[in-house]
Amino acid sequence: MSNPIASVARVKQILDQYDLHAKKGFGQNFLTDVSVVKRAASAAHCEGAVIEIGPGIGSLTEQLAMLSQHVRCYEVDERLPRILEDTLSEYDNVEVLLQDFLECDLEASVKELKEKYGSVAVCANLPYYITTPVLFKLFECKEEINYITVMVQKEVADRFSAPVNSKTYGALSVESQYLYEVKTLFKVPAKCFNPAPRIDSAIIQFKKRDVLEDVGDVNAYFNFVKACFVQRRKTLFNNLKAICESSEVAMKVIEDANLKPSVRAQELDREAFMNLYRVYLKR
Ligand code: SAM
Repeated sequence: MSNPIASVARVKQILDQYDLHAKKGFGQNFLTDVSVVKRAASAAHCEGAVIEIGPGIGSLTEQLAMLSQHVRCYEVDERLPRILEDTLSEYDNVEVLLQDFLECDLEASVKELKEKYGSVAVCANLPYYITTPVLFKLFECKEEINYITVMVQKEVADRFSAPVNSKTYGALSVESQYLYEVKTLFKVPAKCFNPAPRIDSAIIQFKKRDVLEDVGDVNAYFNFVKACFVQRRKTLFNNLKAICESSEVAMKVIEDANLKPSVRAQELDREAFMNLYRVYLKR
């Protein structure tokens, strides 16, 4: 790879050559910094197969192709598969599917790739307008994905990886940290893209936890967590009242969970939240 796709000159040349204008509606910002794509791909644990959401013109795909046995990309923009055929013509292990990722049968896809290549990771520079639904689709996949390494807006990375008691700790943090160890790997300044977005981004990694504590129906647990954060500034008691039979029941749940009546949801760590939920279910 003497002339990587992820460079200012090469991205510009490809955009000019194909008269391609980035579509805002598809969240298109193409990476122009080779060190960023190298760092992301080498952190991705993609030695088996890797799924990429939104390959664009192939900046990150190229690095994944060098490290992985097989790269399966989902791209919604019908202009791009033809261009990717050219830009990635050196690699015979890249498969580009013209499909909205949110519509794909992810379970079947992961199962098939796992059977063929042993493991499946996800690595992508996500279109910002569907970051949360894409991540929840990945989180809810019944076929295990051990590593998800994605570029998102920095504020979004902060919300997922927020520690308890911090300003950005909320339902997204509790939910994702129940399932994964979540780590922000590094920040990516806006100048590393063409076109440059208005805000900085970050690469965040979700590593599946080996053992998940039993909370019964995970979706029901997540709904409970969301309910506890509905009115962030109010106390937990205030939020619990809305999902308990009465104020008395809500207060008893808090007491039985060994919490102070004045506690707020953002003060509860992973264990405290699970404990609260178990008490709530038994109320
Ligand atoms: N990976 C490329 C890079 O890093 O330069 C492009 C990243 S760009 C931020 C997001 C990409 O996701 C675009 O190529 C866009 O067309 C694609 N995309 C947007 N919505 C999508 C969807 N629902 N399913 C699959 N791809 C999508």
